[in-house]
Amino acid sequence: MTENVVAIADRRNSELQHRKMYIDGNWVDAISGEVFETINPYNGQAWATAPLAGPADVKKAVDAARRALSGPWGSMSAAQRGVLIRRLAALIEPHADELARIETTDNGKVIRETRGQMAGLPATYEFFAGAADKIFGDTISAPQTNFFTYTRREPIGVVAAILPWNSPLFLLASKLAPALAAGCTFVAKPAEQTPSSTLEFAKLIDEAGFPPGVFNVVTGAGDTGAALTAEPGVDKVTFTGSTATGIAVMKSAADHIAEVTLELGGKSPNIIFPDADIDAAVNGVMAGIFAATGQTCIAGSRLLVHESIRDAVVERLAQRAPQIKMGDPLDIETEMGPIAFAEQLEKVRFYVDLGVSEGATVVCGGERPQDTDLADGYFFQPTILSGVDNSMRVAREEIFGPVLSVITFTSEEEAVQIGNDTTYGLAAAVWTKDVQRAHRVAHRLNAGTIWINSYRVLANNVPYGGFGQSGIGRENGIEGLDAYLQTKSIWVELTGESRDPFKLG
Ligand code: NDP
Repeated sequence: MTENVVAIADRRNSELQHRKMYIDGNWVDAISGEVFETINPYNGQAWATAPLAGPADVKKAVDAARRALSGPWGSMSAAQRGVLIRRLAALIEPHADELARIETTDNGKVIRETRGQMAGLPATYEFFAGAADKIFGDTISAPQTNFFTYTRREPIGVVAAILPWNSPLFLLASKLAPALAAGCTFVAKPAEQTPSSTLEFAKLIDEAGFPPGVFNVVTGAGDTGAALTAEPGVDKVTFTGSTATGIAVMKSAADHIAEVTLELGGKSPNIIFPDADIDAAVNGVMAGIFAATGQTCIAGSRLLVHESIRDAVVERLAQRAPQIKMGDPLDIETEMGPIAFAEQLEKVRFYVDLGVSEGATVVCGGERPQDTDLADGYFFQPTILSGVDNSMRVAREEIFGPVLSVITFTSEEEAVQIGNDTTYGLAAAVWTKDVQRAHRVAHRLNAGTIWINSYRVLANNVPYGGFGQSGIGRENGIEGLDAYLQTKSIWVELTGESRDPFKLG
């Protein structure tokens, strides 16, 4: 990303929108004065700049978050925290469309999805606002009857959130809303491709009246995330992104024993049995791999289809996929936008070529669209690869693009075996009308979310997270709140008698 880094004084195009970082309640540029550009993937043009934070900026944000913990935020009641979070939720609503447009311009995700995501944000903040004053400890009947023993659920402290580019504010909400409800303070680091929506969102935090330092945003390219996870003042790191970076994040957090929640990649199977409603299943497969241009961690990138219905399913998919309307992601009619950035487009192209060299057949797509209207954007056709074996790299590695690998099976046993033959375990879907089989298979699949006769459905009160290398911990729901709390046990001696000092109680 260094070629995108320019000094503010050298800014080539004054038309670029520049947003500042939000640290300790102030709008600031990087100490170095450097900025980086973000590219609109629909036209390949730079459209915005953001500050390039270095380690000193990151430390400033973490220090501010630490101070806020022991300041007015720390002394606020849970109910008061809930009031502020609710105020934030109310402020998001009138700005939802604007936030959706900013995000779509940054990452190319179609506006019909970003609008839906933004419209859902208030409910997530409301859910956790309501949970804030329902955080309870326990009283425990310990065997030492001369003690009154109870627990308190306390905020874990300063949270660092490292976010990806595919759904910045949607993913931020499932981290920030519970963290605030728990009483934590927060430093967000959006991805270098998509800093703008998080910086814009910070204006709403400011307007809602959160005390300075409770929420901070640092932006940067390349090294900023690493500087944040390495900060010893960070108590918890919550990360969404690739498994490779998740490993680096976890190692860095381990250096100062910070807790981690990791939401990582996937290679999720969409499993269709012969008795399934084929139309519904085909629709689910389309949603799984072509919605959001396949750039989602829950992408149903492996189609596992029974051999007896393989031809019928692939034929229908091959009819529908080329009809997907690609175009300006800001146009409500567009169904599939561009790939988010140039390197990601190259990655998608690389995997399609790799699949072919491994022996797969391109059923449809496989290249950039010929349409001249789309020539400037990072578009790639919806692509179906058939004849894929689960041992091929296209079936094992996350492509993060509109590329479906079709794999056949002959028995339920084999479907489960192939479904589970992955290092990942984020999601899976089972398509069948047989209710016993549906549950049986759902129980045997190793993944954090299983859909039966559906795909790509999530909610703020339903836990979400991965098995295996898809992650650690859960977001959303009460488990998502637990992730930002730590338990303190308190022992109160009731009798005033002295104890044997050399014996454990
Ligand atoms: P990364 O996982 O590398 O980036 C995600 C976030 O991590 C970004 O904010 C990034 O910052 C930050 N980051 C990068 N390196 C470090 C580090 N050493 N320490 C702390 N933070 C770091 O994803 P990419 O954008 O590189 O995409 C690569 C692949 O990741 C995709 O092709 C896809 O397979 C997968 N991915 C998965 C996502 C998911 O939802 N599970 C989301 C996005 C990507 P910066 O942008 O500044 O480098």
